[in-house]
Amino acid sequence: MKANVWHGKGDMRIERVPDPSILNPRDAIVKITSTAICGSDLHLYNGYVPTMEAGDILGHEFMGELVEVGSAVKNLHVGDRVVVPFTIACGHCFFCERHEHSLCENSNPNAWMAEKMWGHSPAGVFGYSHLTGGYAGGQAQYARVPYADTGPIRIDDELADEQVLFLSDILPTGYMAAENCGLQGGEVVAVWGCGPVGQFAIQSAWLLGAERVIAIDRFPERLAMASDWSRAETLDYEQVDIGEALRDMTGGRGPDACIDAVGMEAHGTGMMATYDRIKQMMRLESDRPMVLREVLRSCRNGGTVSVPGVYGGLVDKLPMGSVMNRSLTLKTGQTHVQRYLQPLLERVRRGDFDPGRLITHRMPLDDAPEAYRMFRDKADGCVKVVLKPWLH
Ligand SMILES: [Zn+2]
Ligand SMILES: [Zn+2]
Repeated sequence: MKANVWHGKGDMRIERVPDPSILNPRDAIVKITSTAICGSDLHLYNGYVPTMEAGDILGHEFMGELVEVGSAVKNLHVGDRVVVPFTIACGHCFFCERHEHSLCENSNPNAWMAEKMWGHSPAGVFGYSHLTGGYAGGQAQYARVPYADTGPIRIDDELADEQVLFLSDILPTGYMAAENCGLQGGEVVAVWGCGPVGQFAIQSAWLLGAERVIAIDRFPERLAMASDWSRAETLDYEQVDIGEALRDMTGGRGPDACIDAVGMEAHGTGMMATYDRIKQMMRLESDRPMVLREVLRSCRNGGTVSVPGVYGGLVDKLPMGSVMNRSLTLKTGQTHVQRYLQPLLERVRRGDFDPGRLITHRMPLDDAPEAYRMFRDKADGCVKVVLKPWLH
């Protein structure tokens, strides 16, 4: 089959690789009809995630048709159309029983690597380094799906791929980010990053009761999307001082909840941004926490900070004093996708979300290397790319 293969920083190639096969009775093989590039794939592309190996197949947002199911998979059949969650979870361990699927204790065969780096291991993830299992990803024509009896959700034929594909990651990720804000109704929520997860976080914040949502970015097309589509007030961080603007907009108090939908490769201005860039380049700091610092400082006293943005390792100059003295709550985590599939599918069906509107580019899988470049450079107004593995 054809697959998008990682060969190093900025080096993706479309290659012929062996077709996947069933290894365990709970596996299934999916023939992929649509797959997407995620903002977090850029961290791999830019070489900031350790334990990648040349030859790794990328991609963790994909859907398609089952062409083979293992003997222990009773709830799905060959021919079923499914969306596959990016988190791989066994469904029966301590964490899966608590519906904390991204913490599954059984799905990361390389748990020892993650334990060395993070103390304990989270779940395995498709196409996201050997630290999270070394699983082949879904930017390919086929993929093997472990624990297929608990992960993938079956989709009726009347819903187009583009309406449901993002159930695999970014829609639940944005939703969980808003849910983690613990909204009771009437809050002001600020969202840093108007990429795909940011947009869904804004829309979810409205659904969960926010009274005002303020969105922060610097790219005009993303800010326009945040105001026109997601109905947020917007701030351009290259035009205004965000901390000051947020204070002004909230009577000096600060937003009740703040969401960091940017993560480890934040851009910024001024001395701290330069400091982070240099330290990251010299490998003295793995992540650039520009946004996280601002989020922590901007949130109102006693407020909640929610972090869906991906962080990999160690950050510098985190304002812990601000967190402690001002009674902030910090909520984060890889998304427990399995928990959200059914309720969010229903919300898509009801029209609460119209995920297809996010897509700015549709390309054949063959063009994946070019698509990554475009997406990284935000060229041509690129916000979200969907790749078609069977298109030429
Ligand atoms: Zn993702
Ligand atoms: Zn589990």
